[in-house]
Amino acid sequence: MLEDKNNEKTSLEQLGEFGLIEHLTKDFSIQHSSTFKGIGDDAAVLDFKDKKTVVSTDLLVEGVHFDLSYVPLKHLGYKTVMVNLSDIYAMNATATQITISIAVSNRFPLEALEEFYSGVALAAKIYNVDLIGGDTTSSNKGMLISVTAIGEANEENIVYRNGAKANDLLVLTGDIGAAYMGLQVLEREKEVFKVNPNSNPDLSMYSYIVERQLKPEARKDIVELLEKLEVKPTAMIDISDGLSSEILHLCKNSDVGCNLYEDKIPLDPTVISTCEEFKIDSTTVALSSGEDYELLFTIDQKEFPKIKGNPNLTVIGHMTEKNEGAHLISRNNSKIPITAQGWNSFAKHN
Ligand code: ADP
Ligand code: MG
Repeated sequence: MLEDKNNEKTSLEQLGEFGLIEHLTKDFSIQHSSTFKGIGDDAAVLDFKDKKTVVSTDLLVEGVHFDLSYVPLKHLGYKTVMVNLSDIYAMNATATQITISIAVSNRFPLEALEEFYSGVALAAKIYNVDLIGGDTTSSNKGMLISVTAIGEANEENIVYRNGAKANDLLVLTGDIGAAYMGLQVLEREKEVFKVNPNSNPDLSMYSYIVERQLKPEARKDIVELLEKLEVKPTAMIDISDGLSSEILHLCKNSDVGCNLYEDKIPLDPTVISTCEEFKIDSTTVALSSGEDYELLFTIDQKEFPKIKGNPNLTVIGHMTEKNEGAHLISRNNSKIPITAQGWNSFAKHN
């Protein structure tokens, strides 16, 4: 769709590399005292004083991680930042800076990058992070985006993947499976559009799951909530690849097993109804689908009163001794080993 409009748009060659960088970054301001020097020199300079610095990077490739035929560029800019901030929050840290590097082919006009950067700017403003640099280059085909997020934390507050103990409670934020079901709806509409370009689908009944796919929110609020509740998780990870694979990461890194209860997994009603419509098992989706950007963490049982009843937090299981393995306890009380793809493959359920 971008190509059709190209002739009315500003080509990137017209601006040149420096003009482009200047144009895209001029409205970003610096909010953190730890940003000693931001954009504009060979390198940014940061000063975290006595805090520890947390760093994480992601690379996103058009056609692999995103499809511009249904992802608006503004949403992509926003999501790109979220994906990365989520990793910082999963360390129980505060995100403070980001860098963004992009490579685009000549099919992208200036206006497309402006859209992308408007999403980045919105995310940076809402999540209070400074854009401190990046790189801009051309690609032979498509768009590539790399984001690095930087954060800070006191050493004693950082939560790793390796601290879970047997009998710790396993806690999940929000609900899961929605981003994947939103993608199913968008993919279906893309196919309909191919056959009938005049179709104007009404996606309002799917708005929650489509939004979870296109405009996810990283759980900054949970890091703040845990601080307020005075709960320090023993281990934590963000859900980018699906519940089962993240649980297995926690188990492996912490040298423990776990029991996950199927009936405790939080699912939005839209996820359940869309799963029925697509004839997919909702537990399989919860376990195997990705991109929810919720946080999964473990806490000592004695912390339970502090989190009890909080609508953002659901206890979905508990950790066990390693030799007990990692299992899903199903609704009919059978014990099913958790595998990286979930307890059963998508294929078997289709
Ligand atoms: P260099 O030639 O040293 O790589 P650049 O000319 O690429 O420097 O970058 C100049 C400044 O602009 C640097 O501060 C760099 O971090 C920043 N910058 C470059 N591209 C981007 C981008 N896409 N987004 C944000 N900042 C950028
Ligand atoms: Mg450069």
